[in-house]
Amino acid sequence: RSGGVAAPRRPDFKKLDADDVAFFRSVLSSPSSLITTIESPDGSWSAATSEDLIAYNLDWMDKYKGNSPIVLKPKTTGEVSKIIAYCYKKRIAVVPQGGNTGLVGGGVPVYDELVLNTEGMNQIRDFDDVSGILTTDAGCILEVLSNYLQPKGYMMPLDLGAKGSCHIGGNVSTNAGGLRLLRYGSLHGSVLGIEAVLPDEHGTVISVNMPGGGGAGALRKDNTGYDLKQLFIGAEGTLGVVTGVSILTPRLPSAVNVAVLSVPDFESVQTVFKEARAQLGEILSAFEFWDQEGLDLVLAHTGAKSPFESEPEGGRAFYVLIETSGSNKDHDDEKLGGLLEKLLEDGIIADGTLAQDETQALGLWSLRESLPEAAGKLGKVLKFDVSVPLSRYYELVEEARERFDKMGLVADGSIKTTVGYGHIGDSNLHINIVAKEYNEKTESAVEPWIYEAVAKRNGSISAEHGLGLMKANHVHYSKTEPAIALMQQIRRLFDPRGILNPGKYLPPVEHLPEEG
Ligand code: FAD
Repeated sequence: RSGGVAAPRRPDFKKLDADDVAFFRSVLSSPSSLITTIESPDGSWSAATSEDLIAYNLDWMDKYKGNSPIVLKPKTTGEVSKIIAYCYKKRIAVVPQGGNTGLVGGGVPVYDELVLNTEGMNQIRDFDDVSGILTTDAGCILEVLSNYLQPKGYMMPLDLGAKGSCHIGGNVSTNAGGLRLLRYGSLHGSVLGIEAVLPDEHGTVISVNMPGGGGAGALRKDNTGYDLKQLFIGAEGTLGVVTGVSILTPRLPSAVNVAVLSVPDFESVQTVFKEARAQLGEILSAFEFWDQEGLDLVLAHTGAKSPFESEPEGGRAFYVLIETSGSNKDHDDEKLGGLLEKLLEDGIIADGTLAQDETQALGLWSLRESLPEAAGKLGKVLKFDVSVPLSRYYELVEEARERFDKMGLVADGSIKTTVGYGHIGDSNLHINIVAKEYNEKTESAVEPWIYEAVAKRNGSISAEHGLGLMKANHVHYSKTEPAIALMQQIRRLFDPRGILNPGKYLPPVEHLPEEG
């Protein structure tokens, strides 16, 4: 295996064999829902090659790689329940997996864990076009849900660059933030109900505020007891396998504007943000940022043309994307026009471009959305997703660059570039350090230095990507010891044998209960 520092494989986990495969085949409704390299003793199934399993064992960045011999793709909650009950009884370690677009090594095995992928669970269960509540299987792809809602005049409350592959169950499990959080809030607000399978001997299906699941259905208000569904949001597959989600979807705006502006320094980025909030008010729906290195990378790797007529003064600028969404185009145009005029008059923005139609708007958005992919094309990316107070946001990127320079990592090409971008509206900074390769030298130059630098600023070491394998042992930079201990107790309560995503999310507990 490679990537991240993992605890050794637990010796009490069962090594998967042909009997296990035979059981899983008996549970799954379709033979194509199972891929395994384990040979059949009597020829009743044909074994796959490890190549067939690579897409499930290797993460999006090519950084984390496990060695699972089996992938299951159940189609129903009932199938998931039987699989999980069996894994509990046999002590088989399981990795719940959605679209495998996670960026912290959480969705792929570390060793030989069974991969339980949700792509077969892709049915939309219900949509109420009065309340806007959508209820779906966990394996529905985010973009498929957006496309389903669009003709009905609704949209998903979240959007991210990985929308074409990530699953709604994965989004909920990572508490994905993304490009619309500024306006529509986090999934802790918009997810109304969760259905999940618990890692116990029955594979208990728990339904919290799901239509038809028993008890109160999907409601905005339900103050009866602990809000259990919140625990699954951002649990990264450590408490159960999410099989269904009810989510509140907002109306699709009828008027959208997108502008990209160039400003000379990071202080001006903050001024533009303050002004945009003051003048655009409720129609401000996104405020994104990237630096000169980010723009250069995207233009070089996508072949896109710069949206600006002139080169920035001194060769460097900072860029912001402002999106407005509303229901009255004239009103929104007037507000945005007023903002841009004021910023120009005050000499805050150096250059800018306003999309004239949807194609241009998509083009401007792609400058921002192509960034992670462009970085991946340049080399191996060490990705850090942190929250830091805006006043101290960009100094972290500058400190990183200075550090690598001093260490000679830039001169010898080990570090190719350091890019800063992110969701300014949420104080969420992405630092992408593009290296020649993943190796001990570059990784140790960055970690744990970067976590210490974030903690010094009272920031969070994970704004939205989660902990996974990458940050399981670093959570103390953002959470106190008593808080970590309580989280470990909660995890053990849900998953007494620790079969779900072992070695990830939190530092491992010392002793697992002796039972069983
Ligand atoms: P996976 O990668 O398959 O899994 C992620 C974690 O969730 C794992 O720990 C896994 O075990 C667990 N999990 C998955 N499904 C389930 C389930 N059904 N039940 C229980 N546990 C489950 N993230 C953001 O927050 N904001 C962004 O703007 C953003 N942009 C991105 C852009 C790109 C180009 C890429 C590649 C990634 C981006 N991400 C972003 C990260 C990633 O897309 C999100 O974390 C996404 O929510 C993961 O969904 P997934 O279905 O791919 O989950």
